[in-house]
Amino acid sequence: MERSTHVRLVGIGLAVVSMAIGSWMLFGPGARSQSKITEADFHRFPGVTGPTHVSAVPPPVAADWKRYDQGGKSRLAILLTDPDSSWLGLAHGLKSIGIPFRMTRDVKDALTHDMVLVYPTISGKVLSPEALTQLAEYPRAGGTLIGVQVLGGGLNQVFGFHEAVASRQRYDIHLSGTDPLLAPFTEPLERQLRVGIKEKGIEVLGTYGYTKSANPLAVFEDGTAAVTQKSYGRGRAYAIGLDLGFLLLKGYNNRGEELVRRFDNQFDPLLDVWLRLLKNIYQSAQEDAVTLGTVPFGKSLSVLLTHDVDFTQSVKNAVEYAEYEKSQGLVGTYFIQVKYVRDFNDDIFFNDEGVRYVELLAKEGMELGSHTIAHSRVFSKFPMGTGREAYPSYAPFVKDRTTAYNASILGELRVSKFLLEHFSGQTLVSFRPGELSNPFSLPQALQATGYRYSSTAIANNSLTHLPYQLTYDRLTGSEADIFEFPVTIEDEELPRMGDRLPQALEVARQISRYGGLCVVLIHPNILDHKLAFEKGFVEGVRPYAWFGSVGQFGQWWAARNQVQLDAVRGAGGFRVEISAPQPLEGLAIEVPLGWQLDKRAASAGGIEQQGTVVTLPAVQGTQTLLFTRGALPKRS
Ligand SMILES: [Zn+2]
Repeated sequence: MERSTHVRLVGIGLAVVSMAIGSWMLFGPGARSQSKITEADFHRFPGVTGPTHVSAVPPPVAADWKRYDQGGKSRLAILLTDPDSSWLGLAHGLKSIGIPFRMTRDVKDALTHDMVLVYPTISGKVLSPEALTQLAEYPRAGGTLIGVQVLGGGLNQVFGFHEAVASRQRYDIHLSGTDPLLAPFTEPLERQLRVGIKEKGIEVLGTYGYTKSANPLAVFEDGTAAVTQKSYGRGRAYAIGLDLGFLLLKGYNNRGEELVRRFDNQFDPLLDVWLRLLKNIYQSAQEDAVTLGTVPFGKSLSVLLTHDVDFTQSVKNAVEYAEYEKSQGLVGTYFIQVKYVRDFNDDIFFNDEGVRYVELLAKEGMELGSHTIAHSRVFSKFPMGTGREAYPSYAPFVKDRTTAYNASILGELRVSKFLLEHFSGQTLVSFRPGELSNPFSLPQALQATGYRYSSTAIANNSLTHLPYQLTYDRLTGSEADIFEFPVTIEDEELPRMGDRLPQALEVARQISRYGGLCVVLIHPNILDHKLAFEKGFVEGVRPYAWFGSVGQFGQWWAARNQVQLDAVRGAGGFRVEISAPQPLEGLAIEVPLGWQLDKRAASAGGIEQQGTVVTLPAVQGTQTLLFTRGALPKRS
């Protein structure tokens, strides 16, 4: 992230001095004139060269919805009416919130589930008359039907509205009424959603407002319904008036500028409310609704303490933060700028002294991540590079705020990784760019260079407080095997960090209400009020938080992402089948109210149930849990 003006001015001074020193050319006669830097502006570690392998950016692989066509009847069925849609956003969102789902294009098959979400649209163009008739029958037969963008096909009455009116002039959505489904949304920002911010003057997502809806869950500012609701005894029908998958991808791809209200340090749960609403509907529709927890060991909040080391004094101070964290049994993530070139930004600090501190951080058990080499504001505009960049020939030079020479995305990623691994003995998996400069091609570049986790985005730009998976080029068509953990609380906004601990704790509390993620970023340029903040924050959230490094949480989250979850009604109770291809500790599942874990089953050893949350100490492969159900009031 940005450093202070003071540091920047020092940087300018150094750059001027370095230009004057001489013209020893590091790059040989073929190099561009701007790339001249002197030996004194470059730190050479004798005998250290690499990496020697080549980083190849994988070609995009078109995401195939059939990958999600698996699992049993307890899952939410997604009836996909157009594969050329933003279904990947919906899939990633459902995985984040932990709703087990199954995608299908077969109407009959979908309707064998208790709950069906039709995406991205219902109309006579995408569904046969026979399929439309079957959909119309479904809620009357007790099913729960959600239609996204119900535009025709004669189902208006089924969903309880008169007309769907298209507009690009709707900005606000208000959750209305006292329906039990909306009961968990108690914060003002959870009741007041949005499609865009009118004052920004940026074109917003087209929406469909449903007219004459008797009992809507949410309404647009023009009074039309954004989410209708119609009851059929046990059955329900809901029509949603916007492309939920596309909205989710706007956040996950950081392409929703028209929706971004605040930079950081705030609670802004826009996407999370939509996902939680789906979860609430799923839990009320499905007798055997079992969902995946979002926080390790059934805690309420995942907290990742992270530090950007991007200033001469920081690397030394970082050790004091590490000592505190270690004393508390915590592991922080230290994103290190591998600064072996003196330039506009700063002096060299990744030198013999600097790497001693890096070694110390590793020795304290902290995770090291990369914070690039150049720390350039225009990293997002760098060319991809060759994938052959290596130390010492790779020497990026930042000339000013908008110009850098000899720099590439792959060079920044792979050379920093190589050097940090060389000196720390760790395998680097986590990355955060300087200035949070975010190239569209970053997901696939991270994949090409062996990273797994990114903390590049801001939660408030991503419109979510949950982790999410990235896509190739931050578009809709192809998945990247990289997870993003966006920054929630940071230290550069005013008032100074030490003076806003209560506000930060309030944000953490709000996010913890639904198992969100809180990534804290503290630059260790000073100790003082920032270290005091960290101590106060840790104490404040400790009763309900799980703490981990980016790498620890990332490994857990990536393993969770592969978990398959199904429930089956059996004699005298329910059987829950959990399949975890990767081992993970502290996986939690949420079961319906009244379910009681049958601890007599041998496989239940060490498994804890607290209310509706069941936590498994360790799981790998397939595990079956048995539950009995206590007496419950009958559903109307
Ligand atoms: Zn930085």
